[in-house]
Amino acid sequence: MTNAVDPNWVVHDLDALAANFSEVRRRVGPDQGIFAAIKGNAYGHGALPVARCLEHAGAAGCMTGSFDEALLLRENGVGLPVVLFAGALASGMPELIGAGLIPTIVDMAAADAVASVATPEAPADVYVKVDMGLGRIGVPSHEIEAFLSALSQRPALNVAGLYTHLPFGDNAGREWASGRFRAFDDLLGGLDVSGLLPPVTQAGASSSVAVGLADRASSVCVGHLLFGLTPFADSSVADISAFKPVICELGSRLIQVTAHRQGDDVAIAGMFGLRQGKRVGVAPIGAAHGLQRPAPGTVPMALVRGKRVPIIAVSLEHLTVDLDGVEGAEAGDTVLLLGSDGATGIDLEEFAGWSGMSCLDAVLALSERLPAQYRGGAEGG
Ligand SMILES: *Cc1c(COP(=O)(O)O)cnc(C)c1O
Repeated sequence: MTNAVDPNWVVHDLDALAANFSEVRRRVGPDQGIFAAIKGNAYGHGALPVARCLEHAGAAGCMTGSFDEALLLRENGVGLPVVLFAGALASGMPELIGAGLIPTIVDMAAADAVASVATPEAPADVYVKVDMGLGRIGVPSHEIEAFLSALSQRPALNVAGLYTHLPFGDNAGREWASGRFRAFDDLLGGLDVSGLLPPVTQAGASSSVAVGLADRASSVCVGHLLFGLTPFADSSVADISAFKPVICELGSRLIQVTAHRQGDDVAIAGMFGLRQGKRVGVAPIGAAHGLQRPAPGTVPMALVRGKRVPIIAVSLEHLTVDLDGVEGAEAGDTVLLLGSDGATGIDLEEFAGWSGMSCLDAVLALSERLPAQYRGGAEGG
């Protein structure tokens, strides 16, 4: 399970990932393609193993904003199309095309840069992003027809996809998004009539899939739900309990157990002059690995020998736990911060709750210094 010189680990469950993909498939039906959003190192779960698992599960492609993540997939045999969200300068387009990636373009400067390294005989694929009202990035929706029409005059360019992004986190956002989805459908209808409709179109993401907001696009692009994470700030918007967290275990091992004697003037976590007998254990995991310091008034728990034990302190590289309730605890014992140990467990919500973070933010914070293990998946793991 662990390495003696770095006894920390995090486990991701690829069977849960595949099951979440199937649940998305069940909800969108058989006709829409499912692209996987793997930005942010697959929302903290590891871009390459996630992409491999989802390729096997039947994803239509992967989308990320990071050139490095996209290259990692390309260089490690992932066969899916890899689309970059708009994240590069126009002058970077030749490098993206050269690496076999599909860039997103939102202006003519980028289109010209792509066209400069392709030919009408071997045109380069691009996706175009249209802004349907999120107000962040994309060609404004009232200009999109003219833009696509101008691109159609460049035979070295092939507009393979057109997408937008309409995420929402609460019920007011849901109202807004349903209007914007209808506008996107209308826009696709108009482009179809003028012969400018690209083969791949996409607006749906986790929030719309979770509430069943359908559209006429050819695909969706989903992140949160694949990882069993809610896209909602307000949990009453939709029940996502059918999606299971992919991160399933976070652990370390005790490197020392010390019984401080009654009257000892020790300073554990600033509790100077504890002066009461207490046995504490220390594991080599801390804030540098992405653990949050407990929010005031909370007593986060870990599991040692099947028992819930209070966490006394999170320092830069050490975790100190109170072992008074655990008979026989000793160096080498496992300390679980997330996961289950016999009859008791700590789920992702409880783990994230330490610090008042969302589950996604708690997972994203976990450092890439933690050795990751993968459980399940078609290729075993
Ligand atoms: C991140 C992203 C998605 C996926 O969003 P989720 O809410 O995580 O499903 C889809 N489309 C675009 C353009 C994105 O940037």
